[in-house]
Amino acid sequence: MPKTMRAAQLVAYNQPLEIREVEVPQPQGEAVLVKIGGSGLCHSDLHLMHAEIPMLPYLPFTMGHENAGWVEAVGEQVQGFAPGDPVAVFGGWSTKPDRFTWLGEEQLTDVTKWVGIGQPGGYAEYLLVPTYRYLLPLEGLQPVEAAPLTDAGLTPYRALKKLLPDLYPGSTVVIIGVGGLGQFGVQYARALTPSCTVVAIDVDENKLRIARDLGADETINSRQADPVERIKAMTGGEGAQGIVDFVGADTTMQQAYQMAGRQAKVVFVGLAGGSFPFGTRLLNEATFTTSSWGTLAELSEVLALARKGVAKPHIQRVRFEEMNQAFEDLAHGRIEGRAVLVP
Ligand code: NAD
Ligand code: ZN
Repeated sequence: MPKTMRAAQLVAYNQPLEIREVEVPQPQGEAVLVKIGGSGLCHSDLHLMHAEIPMLPYLPFTMGHENAGWVEAVGEQVQGFAPGDPVAVFGGWSTKPDRFTWLGEEQLTDVTKWVGIGQPGGYAEYLLVPTYRYLLPLEGLQPVEAAPLTDAGLTPYRALKKLLPDLYPGSTVVIIGVGGLGQFGVQYARALTPSCTVVAIDVDENKLRIARDLGADETINSRQADPVERIKAMTGGEGAQGIVDFVGADTTMQQAYQMAGRQAKVVFVGLAGGSFPFGTRLLNEATFTTSSWGTLAELSEVLALARKGVAKPHIQRVRFEEMNQAFEDLAHGRIEGRAVLVP
């Protein structure tokens, strides 16, 4: 194993990543060193790079929280994994013994420990995973396709599941923002709620075309039409029964609020920093909530959905040298599905 490796690091906010030579960490105890096969470029990294979400513990820092690859080396207490095994890395790491950890909701326990956000991530040739318990065997999936499943695939799955108890046959599900996460949202809505009408909303025609290919019944370009009026018209004035907002800007949050029907559920996932005025005279009993990443069990379900062909990642492979251009493209909506670093 080499002593040093390449890593794409953020050295200063609002600056491009730099490819730097850093030490390869050594796994001890329960830890595992994973050779990165793919590390997905998430819009959250753009929020981090521009200090819109001030969570990085220090600079230079290696981001990358959507990871999969092969076990390279194991600590002396690792069980069930051996070098060469293909694995997906669950990223909501926490070391706190806490009620939510005991419940299996570890991603809600200590966000400062998340991979690629609080601890060095996968924009590198190797990733140190603190325990083998965060690894899932790929069983037939390729690391490059599994990498985006660990966040772009996982987060929408948890969000969509929150809608299920409130939907009924014939009701309408709305997905706002059909980029990396939202495209999985459309696929889950199609697969998990076959008797509902699935509507995708975006500001980009290309994304709406992809959403139709993935099974959306209707699409709305919210630059060209008022999505609230369109949804009301489509539903006979009722509004949508389930809405997931993968943007989280003032405009989309207000649209979600206004298009929600009676006893609807609205799940906010996007982290664009928006808010909306909530009035108590809204007497339709709609529920508004957020959703944060997902659990290990949910990740295993997402991998199972991918093996069945239900969650298909749309991948654009990038090399270290192409990462800054890919982030530039992501910021301007030019990535069709998910850009994935293949070191
Ligand atoms: P992305 O850039 O791939 O996709 C965003 C999509 O939203 C694009 O298709 C874009 O055209 C569309 N869009 C932008 N403005 C819009 C508007 N006003 N109305 C409708 N559509 C609009 O981003 P992504 O990687 O899918 O991430 C989406 C968001 O989710 C980001 O804010 C990210 O930080 C957040 N996120 C949250 C969690 C969580 O656990 N809550 C996890 C991962 C990502
Ligand atoms: Zn992410």
